[in-house]
Amino acid sequence: MGFLGGHCGQCDFCRRGDFVNCTDQPQPGTTVDGGYAEIVYARASGLVRVPEAFDALTAAPLLCAGVTVFNALRVAQAPVNSLVAVQGIGGLGHLGVQYAKKMGYRVAALARGTEKARLASTLGADHYIDSAAEDPAAALTALGGATAIIATAANGASMAGLVAGLQPRGKMIVVGASPEPVPVHTPDLIFGGRSIIGSLTGSAIDNEDNLAFSLTHQIAPMIEPLPFHEAPRAYDRMMSGRARFRVVLDFTLAQ
Ligand SMILES: [Zn+2]
Repeated sequence: MGFLGGHCGQCDFCRRGDFVNCTDQPQPGTTVDGGYAEIVYARASGLVRVPEAFDALTAAPLLCAGVTVFNALRVAQAPVNSLVAVQGIGGLGHLGVQYAKKMGYRVAALARGTEKARLASTLGADHYIDSAAEDPAAALTALGGATAIIATAANGASMAGLVAGLQPRGKMIVVGASPEPVPVHTPDLIFGGRSIIGSLTGSAIDNEDNLAFSLTHQIAPMIEPLPFHEAPRAYDRMMSGRARFRVVLDFTLAQ
């Protein structure tokens, strides 16, 4: 099961096939119990078939962070071999770079500082843009402009500064939840017909597509496993931003 606990099949959105936007969908660990637990009651519509070949620790982050960037890239519908930018190299972004590369794009990774440049290259990025040292929109434009930007770092101002780096008709797909608004320079939207779109995780069948793609292309999250009884410490570590990049609770680790 991913972030969404299964759609109802009866609301207007479900009846139109838009399961992510079901108005009666539990979120285990948030709106219902079962997020950090050995046992969870689940709706059948929320269950994801995990291929036998998958290691559970690898599959777990792909079911939320993974499908989020996988679907964001599908929403973007960028032409193959065009330039796609991934803003932020964290839990979502380090997967986004891998997916974008394996989907056949030229990939620009954007982060602040030089610390993540080597990692971005290892993950498959063709270009690294240090947004603390240069104007990232100008840097993208110098590369020909991005057809899509997957915005993962939860910083509205940082997202806003990228819109001018999109090609005409380019799309910025927002998946990082920022507490601040995104103050956009409106002519950048009007001239060139650029757009900013949100994307929320994916349905169970989206996740099966995602896992199959990840298995074929050997996409894997970087994880820090911790035993189940250390769940509070695992949560704190994740919230601190120091985890590289996802903490996974491992029920098989010794008590
Ligand atoms: Zn529904």
